[in-house]
Amino acid sequence: GAPLLRVSDLKVHFPIHDGVLIRRRSGSVKAVDGVSFEVRKGETLGLVGESGCGKSTTGMAILRMTPLTGGRIEFEGQDISGLGARKMRPLRQRLQMVYQDPYGSLNPRMKVGDIVGEPLVIHGVTGTQDAYRARIQELLRLVGLRPDMAERYPHEFSGGQRQRISIARAVALNPSLVLCDEPVSALDVSIQAQVVNLFQELQERLGLSYLFIAHDLAVVRHVSHRIAVMYLGRIVEIAPRDMLYREPLHPYTRGLLAAVPLPDPLAERTRVHEEITGEPPSVVNPPSGCHFHPRCPMAMPICAQRAPELTAIGNARSVACHLHGAAPALDGQAAA
Ligand code: SF4
Ligand code: MG
Repeated sequence: GAPLLRVSDLKVHFPIHDGVLIRRRSGSVKAVDGVSFEVRKGETLGLVGESGCGKSTTGMAILRMTPLTGGRIEFEGQDISGLGARKMRPLRQRLQMVYQDPYGSLNPRMKVGDIVGEPLVIHGVTGTQDAYRARIQELLRLVGLRPDMAERYPHEFSGGQRQRISIARAVALNPSLVLCDEPVSALDVSIQAQVVNLFQELQERLGLSYLFIAHDLAVVRHVSHRIAVMYLGRIVEIAPRDMLYREPLHPYTRGLLAAVPLPDPLAERTRVHEEITGEPPSVVNPPSGCHFHPRCPMAMPICAQRAPELTAIGNARSVACHLHGAAPALDGQAAA
């Protein structure tokens, strides 16, 4: 059937301005520059890349919280590309978000029960007082919290517990898709696995799909069915999880994998990929051609001239790299 979410050639460009003369437009930042992917029913798609690569902006665009420069977003078969915040509201029952910061994202003056129940109130689906209270208790139990915690305030909870509260709130309306923007990045490593496990449990019990955004490949490894790797506004590789970890094709994916801690110290010896060094270049002034070429150990002359297209390799994966697929001719050379 049709995918739950289909993002086609998504572009989000922000105008940039010279100094304080904000009326003088001097260019644009291509935060998201032609991104396409699908999330299928019951699937977790990991979206991975360094900070500033456009992965959060992609999430904001899907929620229609930032204007699109181009492209199309379809959710549950409906084109939502043109919808503003008001027209999106009924759809937000089906499309929810869990944010990175479990400290800043919960209203400190609200009791936990009211935080979890607020989406029901906003959408006018509380039912009777008793039903409302019972639903909140059910949601708290679902995320591994005690029902009596409804009467307490967010500051009384640890980071991991607060993220459980955010998750209870996000699933309150029975969404089909939850966008998770680095939902465990702010938590202690010891807590991360527990929260990741909760996401997986809820997926099985509630039939949820996730777009799971993360800055490294370690966190998404266990949750994702497929993984898309982003670099400076573009997807450079998308593949089923095991294929991506076993045989990464894009040099950037290989570099990200080299940075993932291996569970077996002996495996260190067989590490084949070089870790990427240096800060990613800025999206304000990205490198020509393949944006990755200044950091790529495999770069060729063509790489600075032409941006590689995302190209299907077999039927499950795609990669954007001149090393894979048909090699285009250098400028000034006749194509054979
Ligand atoms: Fe490296 Fe060239 Fe491939 Fe870009 S296109 S990743 S620079 S080999
Ligand atoms: Mg971000």
